[in-house]
Amino acid sequence: MNPQGPLPEPPLALLAELTHRCPLQCPYCSNPRALVTRAGELDTASWQRVLTEAARLGVLQVHFSGGEPTARRDLVELVRHAAASGLYSNLITSGVQLDAKRLAALAEVGLDHVQLSFQDADDASGDAVAAYDGAQAKKRAVAALVIAQGLPLTANLVVHRRNLARLPAMIEMAAGLGASRLEVAHVQYYGWALANRAALLPTRDQLEAADRVIEAARARLKGRVVIDYVMPDYYARRPKACMSGWGRRFINITPSGKALPCHAAETLPGIDYPSVTTESLEAIWRRSDAFMRFRGTAWMPEPCRSCDQREIDWGGCRCQALALTGDATRTDPVCALAPDHALIERALTEPPTDDLTFRRFAAARIQA
Ligand code: SF4
Ligand code: SF4
Repeated sequence: MNPQGPLPEPPLALLAELTHRCPLQCPYCSNPRALVTRAGELDTASWQRVLTEAARLGVLQVHFSGGEPTARRDLVELVRHAAASGLYSNLITSGVQLDAKRLAALAEVGLDHVQLSFQDADDASGDAVAAYDGAQAKKRAVAALVIAQGLPLTANLVVHRRNLARLPAMIEMAAGLGASRLEVAHVQYYGWALANRAALLPTRDQLEAADRVIEAARARLKGRVVIDYVMPDYYARRPKACMSGWGRRFINITPSGKALPCHAAETLPGIDYPSVTTESLEAIWRRSDAFMRFRGTAWMPEPCRSCDQREIDWGGCRCQALALTGDATRTDPVCALAPDHALIERALTEPPTDDLTFRRFAAARIQA
């Protein structure tokens, strides 16, 4: 019997981070602070092999992400391969590099869904936080193209202190563009966002106002638009079940081919993440030390070890525990029961700043 319990179920989804290249520079980007350059990216054949292996392993969905996945010239080939392998494919994009011809080609080869991010409802503010002139207008045009192509559209609305006042307008804009689902997601404070926490973390008053906005919008748009709402976990009493538990539902493949249990996991020291260039996805999922390390409950310290929530939130987020305490094995400080919870309370009283570090290669460490 292995100490992590029975062999895991197949993963539900594969997040294919095709590239870290992106024309936008969002200061809350979920990419790591150390970025992979174009020269370090997996080639087309390697990605196709990964997709084949994923389908064999039982993966149902592939999310083509980045960076900006449309920066890859072979995106149509990869979507075609995913569809031929029986995978449901979702394109997570900023949209600014998409046009009608490319979208039609993607739909033609079997793309199932588009998730388009919006930074704001106000053009000047949206363009400023993305550091890209004309981004907002381009995104609205791309939303219309997605609808015209007959593809389902999810609008991803990332919210933080600087745009929460315009949340009602953001929801109206996205619903008006024809999105059938909205994902309103507060910034999660890892990587670039953690570096910008003092400029982005909302106040409690803003959060309470946002809750009311979401509730009203859900009632108003019922039957027409589904609204998912991701809270900022700094204001929660219990942590989120990060990735539904380490190595339980998701595999993330970085642009260079490292397999991670979540997109931020590379920050954890002392873990030798396996590469799809040398190991099969099945071996990685079932047997690699990296995926076993925090799978299940055997690794947990107190208070998680004897807590009745341990198979609900799986002890929260390992990357957040590391980022805030310096030790990935600690209980996520977001939990009010965690010995390190004072770190969160202190962060909530941090003086706000307007300074932002934008996500750009020049401000990043380079992986390859
Ligand atoms: S969050 Fe912004 S910078 Fe990061 S990949 Fe998405 S669009 Fe690009
Ligand atoms: S003590 Fe651990 S298992 Fe219990 S609620 Fe907090 S993080 Fe979750």
